[in-house]
Amino acid sequence: MALIVQKYGGTSVGSVERIKDVAQRVAKFKMLGHQVVVVVSAMSGETNRLIALAREIQQSPDPRELDVLVSTGEQVTIALLSMALKDLGLRAKSYTGAQVRILTDDAFTKARILGIDEERIRADLEAGRVVVVAGFQGVDERGNITTLGRGGSDTTGVALAAALHADECQIYTDVDGVYTTDPRIVPEARRLKTVTFEEMLEMASLGSKVLQIRSVEFAGKYKVKLRVLSSFEEGGEGTLITFEEDDKMEQAVISGIAFNRDEAKITVQGVPDRPGIAYQILGPIAEGNVDVDMIIQNVGADGTTDFTFTVHRNEYQRALDILARVEAQIGARKVSGDTRICKVSVVGVGMRSHVGIASSMFRTLADEGINIQMISTSEIKISVVLDEKYLELAVRILHKAFKLEEEPQAV
Ligand code: ADP
Ligand code: ASP
Ligand code: MG
Repeated sequence: MALIVQKYGGTSVGSVERIKDVAQRVAKFKMLGHQVVVVVSAMSGETNRLIALAREIQQSPDPRELDVLVSTGEQVTIALLSMALKDLGLRAKSYTGAQVRILTDDAFTKARILGIDEERIRADLEAGRVVVVAGFQGVDERGNITTLGRGGSDTTGVALAAALHADECQIYTDVDGVYTTDPRIVPEARRLKTVTFEEMLEMASLGSKVLQIRSVEFAGKYKVKLRVLSSFEEGGEGTLITFEEDDKMEQAVISGIAFNRDEAKITVQGVPDRPGIAYQILGPIAEGNVDVDMIIQNVGADGTTDFTFTVHRNEYQRALDILARVEAQIGARKVSGDTRICKVSVVGVGMRSHVGIASSMFRTLADEGINIQMISTSEIKISVVLDEKYLELAVRILHKAFKLEEEPQAV
């Protein structure tokens, strides 16, 4: 007998039929004698619908009230799934995040989980119940409803698996695993049987929305056995996130390509080239709670330099407003921005022992006449910022250039 946490995403619970199907799937695991905790997302499209409603009233919705609003999506699906389970003759009970007590900080719309009271869940499991928990939501110390950021149900699933010391956390979605890149963009993309935790962390942080980055962080911290599977197919093995680097012969140099169209670029031109200038620009941005991703500072000329960085598009205007306030003080000639950018990254632990990946990447892009605006590298990834219009082309040609559709060969 094992304790399994299963998470079902929006499309997996997108209709009453789908919810009944999930109930059948859960019932099978229960019949095998396993204890099952199920985490569900809102029905597909529901979170977007609720956010759009809020925006009809407030351009930038009040974050506390937005969390009260969007958390309702998951409250609907926990109740419906519990009913479907009971209809199959199983014992089941639903809980919102606050009822479990998934305690978070008070950063509305992007709260972090601080702790989980797992006793009630454990008691229900002992009593033979399936426990159904609302994903994406928690409660702060003062009882305010919070949410964990888009895609946050993944994190609820993995955090519960960690708290309960579950044998496995299964993330059921509309694809049958983690692919070399988003199969919607590259139909030839190949499912990975395994992916290392480090690679998954990079892919998630660089835009592969198949897992929310915080869920991968949790899995790493608590060594949760994590698998991504399809809720539409039977019997697949999905993709297992592994913690040891595969020393198999067929280890690929590049595991995947991630991309992101959620960022915007800001350039501060003609700032005095002196100590402290980066801090003067980025200090106020950080104080404004805007996360900065890539940063480039040019070589100075004539005592001045240019400074470029990227932020999330949702925070672009806020970052520009902050800079407008401090611009005169910094002594910048001009602040400009561009939201029509994208970031494309190649990821692979094999890069550590292979040279020439960056030059292959740059040559492939150059051959198609794609201009690179920014570059950033780490040990296991290379990211480039491009004009947004090149996103799909760049991902496709890189996928081909690195032969990702083929099973890696023995080396
Ligand atoms: P859910 O609603 O189940 O949480 P998501 O839409 O959040 O599902 O995540 C699944 C989607 O992630 C897939 O439909 C796919 O388009 C996208 N995706 C992006 N990158 C990848 C990748 N490398 N492998 C698999 N899916 C990916
Ligand atoms: N319903 C939330 C969202 O759409 C959380 C999730 O699906 O993981 O972002
Ligand atoms: Mg998701």
